[in-house]
Amino acid sequence: MTRPLRAEISLSALQHNLQQARNAAPESKVIAVIKANGYGHDMQIVAHALNTADAFAVASIEEAINLREAGIHQPIILLEGFFDVDDLLLLQAYSLQPVIHSMHQIEILEEASLTYAFDVWMKIDTGMHRLGFSTMETKQAYARLHECDAVETIHAMTHFANADDQENLSTAYQIALFKKTIEDVGINATTSLANSAGILGFPDSHADWIRPGIMLYGASPFVDDDIESLSLKPVMNLVSELISVREVMRGESVGYGGEWICPEKMRVGVVACGYGDGYPRHAPSGTPVLVNGQRASLIGRVSMDMITVDLRDCEANIGDPVMLWGDGLPADEVALHAETIAYELFCNIAPRVPRVEIK
Ligand SMILES: *Cc1c(COP(=O)(O)O)cnc(C)c1O
Repeated sequence: MTRPLRAEISLSALQHNLQQARNAAPESKVIAVIKANGYGHDMQIVAHALNTADAFAVASIEEAINLREAGIHQPIILLEGFFDVDDLLLLQAYSLQPVIHSMHQIEILEEASLTYAFDVWMKIDTGMHRLGFSTMETKQAYARLHECDAVETIHAMTHFANADDQENLSTAYQIALFKKTIEDVGINATTSLANSAGILGFPDSHADWIRPGIMLYGASPFVDDDIESLSLKPVMNLVSELISVREVMRGESVGYGGEWICPEKMRVGVVACGYGDGYPRHAPSGTPVLVNGQRASLIGRVSMDMITVDLRDCEANIGDPVMLWGDGLPADEVALHAETIAYELFCNIAPRVPRVEIK
């Protein structure tokens, strides 16, 4: 038998979550964001399950080529654009649409003598201060893009820095600044602002295209709302089994560093899943897991291939199922214990963990 750890990927949950994005922004087209291997879920599985999306977005040309070779025909947007002049041939060969965020990229476009033109997404920086043209530069960038033979249609976009916090006033400011810049410069383009938090929390941001990422995978984009209240379904069930169950005496320690000391004689289970699989090494004792569908706690340090769990409150034997997160144990809850976010938990799932489609 093979090692029991696997990431089950629910196709119907992906489709449900896409529909939730459409319901929240019924007038907008959807760019499904599937960078970082579909947030760790397997980009090809995700793209095929979401084949009703209007477009896809990825971070690299390699990811985009992978999608084209898997038969994806929708527009594919490169969120970091292209990096040098040689990339332009690949944009042509695979029909890709770059984000244009710097004068450096515009210079490359101006100097390249292309016989082919593509759509571009001009990124305006309204407060994230990562990628994009400042509002001062936007007029010049727009004019120069207009003059480029390689540019077919210009779309305009921006990205939010604080939309995960619905009380934060900077999102409304970013929306207003984006709209004002479009108007002042006289930009005639379809527009896109909203990530998942914008879609669910800021209706003013919906515009022509929405860009859902994390909500598609069934995790919350907000610090204060759980997926149940947002009607999202978890897509990944990270599941394994107990590979050992034993009694450890009171006062004895469990695992590296002896960090957990048994307060009484107790049953300890060992689960095949560790930081070598992407489970967070800094998850502390008390982080929840489901054993046979019942809540139990991680105890002691996370090892490379295993974790140990407290079985005092569970009926459990070797071979019984364990869920690290998924249906009944939101990744957001595990992330909170591990002082991270579900995005990182998903992205960190190692290549050695098989992704298995579940209808
Ligand atoms: C990753 C990303 C998104 C999706 O963000 P979520 O918070 O996962 O919804 C949208 N737009 C851009 C530019 C991104 O980089």
